[in-house]
Amino acid sequence: MLPLSFRHLARPLWRGCQAGASLHRAQHGKAAAESHGEVPTWTGQESLAESDPEMWELVQQEKDRQCRGLELIASENFCSRAALEALGSCLNNKYSEGYPGKRYYGGAEVVDRIELLCERRALEAFDLDPACWGVNVQPYSGSPANFAAYTALLQPHERLMGLDLPDGGHLTHGYMSDVRRISATSIFFESMPYKLNPATGLIDYDQLEVTARLFRPRLIIAGTSAYARLIDYARIKKVCEEVKAYLLADIAHISGLVAAKVIPSPFKYADVVTSTTHKTLRGARSGLIFYRKGVRSVDKKTGREIPYDLEERVNFAVFPSLQGGPHNHAIAAVAVALKQASSPMFREYCQQVLKNAKAMAEALLERGYTLVSGNTDTHLVLVDLRPKGIDGARAERVLELVSITANKNTCPGDKSALTPGGLRLGAPALTSRQFQEGDFQKVVEFIDEGIQIGLDVKSKTAKLQDFKSFLLKDPDTQGRLSDLCSRVETFARAFPMPGFQER
Ligand SMILES: *Cc1c(COP(=O)(O)O)cnc(C)c1O
Repeated sequence: MLPLSFRHLARPLWRGCQAGASLHRAQHGKAAAESHGEVPTWTGQESLAESDPEMWELVQQEKDRQCRGLELIASENFCSRAALEALGSCLNNKYSEGYPGKRYYGGAEVVDRIELLCERRALEAFDLDPACWGVNVQPYSGSPANFAAYTALLQPHERLMGLDLPDGGHLTHGYMSDVRRISATSIFFESMPYKLNPATGLIDYDQLEVTARLFRPRLIIAGTSAYARLIDYARIKKVCEEVKAYLLADIAHISGLVAAKVIPSPFKYADVVTSTTHKTLRGARSGLIFYRKGVRSVDKKTGREIPYDLEERVNFAVFPSLQGGPHNHAIAAVAVALKQASSPMFREYCQQVLKNAKAMAEALLERGYTLVSGNTDTHLVLVDLRPKGIDGARAERVLELVSITANKNTCPGDKSALTPGGLRLGAPALTSRQFQEGDFQKVVEFIDEGIQIGLDVKSKTAKLQDFKSFLLKDPDTQGRLSDLCSRVETFARAFPMPGFQER
């Protein structure tokens, strides 16, 4: 018989290095080592629950929050189990600075194929001819994709224009306040915003045109984070041609809808298109940059064709200018999502997103709410709460306490970004949980109940801080909140949670 401390070696040889055998060895090795006062050998085989119960518990709590709540944040979605499997795979371990076939590290044969597959699927998902378009799939997320695109297209301090942040643009489109340059886009480049027409809530293209003639930007960005209407890309392209600017379409929010062809595509007009992959596209968190290839223009005098030089500039900006090793696990998970995004099922999903957003808009209008721009053509609605006598910050907080997640948003004419008048509500996440039009009518009923509670509390309090503390300590309000919350949660739990078995 073996001495006690060597018993762990007496495992059946035929089990080889199967997981069961190595776990057995790990546990016994650990026990044996500990009995000798040694540090046990690291195997990396423990589950999250075993290795870090504190973090495991937090993940369970977040998963439960996602199951029991109504997720209306317009940028969020539920990634598939298949894509999450790729995301949590051994691909995390591989360094591969450079591009397929041109890496600074060995052992990149497999990740080369993964990156090429992701590129091919990205072009296929948006129906792009590889002779006319290329794509870089390495940006870590939407913001780095934008900064890389600007770095590729502009010299430091060259000029760009984007929709102002309070009007529904994104921070990365050049946001600066009256006193400070906030986004790095405005620190390293010179940004000039264009705005919404406050009367219509639509992009003021006339003003954009006048400003562009004065400002002469090298780049105009067409893209939004909080805008419920379609963008007139042809109109912006006309301005770009006049002032000789590049047109960059940032489709971060709407890329799923564009891929599914349920809203118009900017690819016909844009020189560069950037996107995230985790919003309506429903993949892992990452970024994409599409760039034009082929002939850019023909010299009028010589008749010579002038090619685009964007491929080299975009790729060089991403690596080595701004990033290091690509996130191969994310690239693989994006490839999985892009395959799904090319399926008829995904097109149905996107059609349902639009129907659900419309149903939400109609239900809100029926209940007397005001919508910025009057309605929606996309996946989100922007509610102007000011006519109701409440603001977005108070509404966001009450809804949060009843497990409805949405975010406050500025409306045209808002003075304060901390207590803006609007609330942004998106349909993509709940549509992934199989919600249909009737379910969104129910969602609006819950929101309306929450806002009634908010109005009552607002009439009894002064500042936002008083409002927030009153919500937590007034017994009558507490009763109303917990009643509404339990009805919301019972309703939400009945729907499946994509990617997981839990309810
Ligand atoms: C979300 C978003 C981004 C940034 O994406 P992150 O992944 O959050 O960095 C960029 N542009 C627009 C229009 C967006 O909505």
